[in-house]
Amino acid sequence: MRYDVEALRRDFPILDRTVYGKPLVYLDNTATSQTPRVVVEAIENMYFNHKANVHRGVFSISQEATDMMEATRGKVCSYINAASPSEIIFTRGTTEGINLVASSFGSFMENGDEIILTAMEHHANIVPWQLLGSRKRIGLRVVPVRPDGSLDLDQYRNLFSERTRLVAVCHVSNVLGTVNPIQEMVDYAHSMGVPVLVDGAQAVPHMTIDMQALDADFYAFSSHKMYGPAGVGILYGKERWLEKMPPYQGGGEMISHVSFKKTTYAELPFKFEAGTPDFVDIAAFSACLDYISAIGIDAIEAHERELLEWTTAEMEKIPGMRIFGTAPGKCAVISFLMGDAHHYDTGMLLDKLGIAVRTGHHCAQPLMEALGIEGTVRASFGLYNTKAEAEAFIAALHRIAPMLM
Ligand code: PLP
Repeated sequence: MRYDVEALRRDFPILDRTVYGKPLVYLDNTATSQTPRVVVEAIENMYFNHKANVHRGVFSISQEATDMMEATRGKVCSYINAASPSEIIFTRGTTEGINLVASSFGSFMENGDEIILTAMEHHANIVPWQLLGSRKRIGLRVVPVRPDGSLDLDQYRNLFSERTRLVAVCHVSNVLGTVNPIQEMVDYAHSMGVPVLVDGAQAVPHMTIDMQALDADFYAFSSHKMYGPAGVGILYGKERWLEKMPPYQGGGEMISHVSFKKTTYAELPFKFEAGTPDFVDIAAFSACLDYISAIGIDAIEAHERELLEWTTAEMEKIPGMRIFGTAPGKCAVISFLMGDAHHYDTGMLLDKLGIAVRTGHHCAQPLMEALGIEGTVRASFGLYNTKAEAEAFIAALHRIAPMLM
């Protein structure tokens, strides 16, 4: 089937916008992606027809809302091929998922234990471990990044010790686009008896994810980066860990029985979902998974790859262009600097031409330090970006180059 990008674009009203009188070219999909009409309609449907608190009411619309939320859980379970819906925990996003694991699984760790991270982690996969380390003396061992943005697996293997309790690693780098050899990393960690948490925020929007094949112990991602509503995330966790782990937050929904003497907790996954969940957006996330599935994640990936390859080749022709992250098989994320120009100036000039790119450290300051820079400009593609937009981006770079270099 032909990839009809123009038809897909009609599903995203925001793409018709102009900025400074120029058509919007949205290239900040790594930070958040735009949302198709069907998902917004699903939100509207929840508000207008089914809004009632979930898991509590005997009345019909409460049961409808509950069924819609739980249907999404079932759909997420099949989408990522988890073994059971009880392994799917709804969170506010990747950040909350990782904090949940740091706080709850982290309670099993002791002074002197170690966690292996990589130098390309987002702050969301660094700071929760440092917070844990401020309560206990936890050592963070960091896998360095090679000049092309890939990881050295020998270095990774060398970091294991008898005190290693967890590997916490991103599947795809939000700065470099590197797709880490996650299966090999999980397999090796398991051979050493160490569980693995994967930050999948930048992987799930671009590739097939299979929890049972990958066998990771935890896997976190965010709806808003996969064309879904903001404020919803998923933490996949293996049932055998989740059963053992203490609750993350206390409150309604997560209990079985409360008395002042003793409280018992709800079954999985509810033990980890204290308080009223964002049932409206969770229900709508279901429409988002249907939308992606109808196009096909492989078709999306192939489309983005074409844009990545063409754009990278054109950028390389611009004298003074510095691209960060050139590992083979990388995702459609291009971090760059134009000569010594400040990333912020480049971003501002591109915005004046209607092109939305991200500038700064991308919540990866340790990576910036390793690269010896303060920040980059980052262009990233999504399912609706076109060759014409890539051309407009390249033309804009040519136009601003004489002003910056
Ligand atoms: N991890 C990575 C690799 C990311 O790119 C991001 C967001 O950019 C996050 C974690 C945090 O995601 P969220 O802000 O949705 O919790």
